[in-house]
Amino acid sequence: MRMLMATSPLLLGGCSLWQGCNVCTSLLSPTPPSPDEGRDDLGETQSQVSHTQQELSDQLLKDDRARSDYFDHDFPEDIFYTGEKLEMLTRLTHKFRGAQKHVGFGNFNLLGMDEFFQIADRASNVGALTAQEKLFLEELFYFDAKKYGFNGNKIFPGFTDAVKKSEAQKIPASGHYLKKGESLDIYNRLRKDVGESLILTSGFRAVAKQFHLFLEKGLESNGNISKASRSLAPPGYSFHGRGDFDVGKVGYGLKNFTQDFALTDEYKRLLDLGYINIRYTQSNLLGVRFEPWHIKVEV
Ligand SMILES: [Zn+2]
Repeated sequence: MRMLMATSPLLLGGCSLWQGCNVCTSLLSPTPPSPDEGRDDLGETQSQVSHTQQELSDQLLKDDRARSDYFDHDFPEDIFYTGEKLEMLTRLTHKFRGAQKHVGFGNFNLLGMDEFFQIADRASNVGALTAQEKLFLEELFYFDAKKYGFNGNKIFPGFTDAVKKSEAQKIPASGHYLKKGESLDIYNRLRKDVGESLILTSGFRAVAKQFHLFLEKGLESNGNISKASRSLAPPGYSFHGRGDFDVGKVGYGLKNFTQDFALTDEYKRLLDLGYINIRYTQSNLLGVRFEPWHIKVEV
């Protein structure tokens, strides 16, 4: 079995969090890992972070608020994909990338899983998914995300649930769609009130897109899917499927998806104008990082 040791800031003493994290450098010293017991079977799961208690108590490490504030750390109870599961995760991530390339970035946002499978079948850069790969995705979809620390609600109950494309409006030059009605109205008002320096950075998303984002985040997290779920709702759980959307500042690039967005004039304008009704607030109890860029539409 291939083991990947987590490159945890907790263990290594570095911090990949946004500026302001002053806890991790002196936090914990490693002790031998202990098996992650009491979890439903997700395949090979193992907690790869061990700890001795110094500044943080066990209670704090288990606390949802701490998971939100230190979303980019590994926590002792995190669930990891390792071995074959990690290889599967990697292989599937590549297939999603291939399908996105095949249909185009914008169109990919609206694909249901059935369409994704059809595209994989016919796209030479993807290749049909095996029964085992489909089963893996289905199991991931139906696994109770609360077990790996994500406390949000499920938006799409079914694995093959699709969005109505007739409900989606393409937003020029963004590569994204918005759901017609309230989402689109709010976005248009935002642009009018804040100005054209405010852009749509992610809009209406169906299940395949959420799978892709989540798998990419899982891969980036060395198979730590608990950590992935602190930055990204697992497939089926994203409010982007109901109309929520993300905004950013022109030219701000990936910083639009960091706490730095909260320092921009655009964010301050949004706040002043009362548009900010944040889904994932600072130190929230959902086990998700603070997302100042995420506009909550659906209540
Ligand atoms: Zn969002």
